[in-house]
Amino acid sequence: MFNLFIVIIVATLLFFVWQLIRLKFIKQTKNKFKFPRDYLVGINYLLNEQEDKALEVFINLLEVDQNTVETHLALGSLFRRKGEVNRAIRIHQNIIARPQLSQEQRLDALLALGHDYLNAGVLDRAERVFLDLLQAKDGHSHSALYSLLDIYQQEKSWRKAIQISKKIQDVTGKEMAKFISHHYCELSESAIEGGDITAAIRYLKSALAIQHNSIRANLLDARIFEILGKHKKALSRYKKVVENDIIFLPEVIKGILNCYEQCDKKENGIEYLRSLHSIDSKASVFLLATEEIYSLEHDFKFILSQLEIYPSLFGLAKILNIVINDCNISEEQQNNLLSLGEVASKLAGASKKYFCNHCGFISKALLWYCPSCKKWDSILLSCN
Ligand SMILES: [Zn+2]
Repeated sequence: MFNLFIVIIVATLLFFVWQLIRLKFIKQTKNKFKFPRDYLVGINYLLNEQEDKALEVFINLLEVDQNTVETHLALGSLFRRKGEVNRAIRIHQNIIARPQLSQEQRLDALLALGHDYLNAGVLDRAERVFLDLLQAKDGHSHSALYSLLDIYQQEKSWRKAIQISKKIQDVTGKEMAKFISHHYCELSESAIEGGDITAAIRYLKSALAIQHNSIRANLLDARIFEILGKHKKALSRYKKVVENDIIFLPEVIKGILNCYEQCDKKENGIEYLRSLHSIDSKASVFLLATEEIYSLEHDFKFILSQLEIYPSLFGLAKILNIVINDCNISEEQQNNLLSLGEVASKLAGASKKYFCNHCGFISKALLWYCPSCKKWDSILLSCN
């Protein structure tokens, strides 16, 4: 990897040389041996793994001016892509400090510096840079808007994220309803956690107004009705979510069963769950709810029959769990089954229920926003 880095640096330096010759730099320099010597010193530092000293030499080798700024920008972005963000920052700050550059060149360097800060996780500095770029109202404003959205989502500054998303929609024409709906749902969930149901309802209404068929907003709608004790309405919302996509069954099953129970219709809950597997095209999902179904009716044969129809390691691990916890077996048999259950769980990845279909991030709970690749709605349930 280090050899590859040297090759890239050397290639960049050759580009430097070509540019220097083009600018007749050597002819204009009183001491014509200064450049080759510094060049060799820089290479020597690289070979001795003293990259910081090498960088210093190379930056000094070529002064930033109107003609060389593009080369410096390329070198900075090369360092950032390699993960050497501090070096990229030094190069871009060095460019910005030069007074002789045009406004456009300065803004190019500022945009690059903003991305450096973003990559380094220095979000407050990145925000300031991108806000400055927005003020400049030049060709970089689109890029600055998307970067600001990225920052506010990482910071969970949902109100700011909404403002910027609306601005992106106005400026670029890109449909941002899905994003804004998620931001309102985030605010609503925070309000629920803070015990402010009135605010939670207000934010939820905004989310539904922007995207009425959002599964997340409907799920939240059901949850709020359940909290308010309006179990019939909650039940209809929960059912809407499941019937829209049964993959969300594990998220709503407890709510559904609770609502049936609160309405004194526990048996109807069992009936409803049984009816689901007949409409279930992703039937293995049904096995994810095995424990809840078993706890309701203790119909082990029914559960087993589902596993026979839709064999899956996940289902097997769940059923073994039921047998271990609920059946009257000796301690030795229990231990044997426990070991078997652990093997099945490992094979099924049972402890890793959710994964991001974009970057492969694995989570134990349903997340709407992937913290790794920063995509919405990319985390799916794994039910193999
Ligand atoms: Zn991801």
